[in-house]
Amino acid sequence: MQQFPCPWCGNRAEGEFHYAGDAGIDRPERTVDDKAWAQYLHFRRNAKGAARELWIHSAGCGRWIVVSRDTVTHVVTGSEPMV
Ligand SMILES: [Zn+2]
Repeated sequence: MQQFPCPWCGNRAEGEFHYAGDAGIDRPERTVDDKAWAQYLHFRRNAKGAARELWIHSAGCGRWIVVSRDTVTHVVTGSEPMV
């Protein structure tokens, strides 16, 4: 099983984490139109290669982290606390 580096707990099994989506997507203001809101909710880059993803260490410390991972090779290159 793949290992994820939690900044607080160290390397832990991927099964202890849950994926929550792409990192770095800002929630729009409440005043945006339906098209902009739908864009925020449903459309992602979904590009091959390097990605930054939100994960929660749900079976560990319960904290949110940003994992840098290659979506093709699944190689994890790092993690950091979510701010
Ligand atoms: Zn942790």
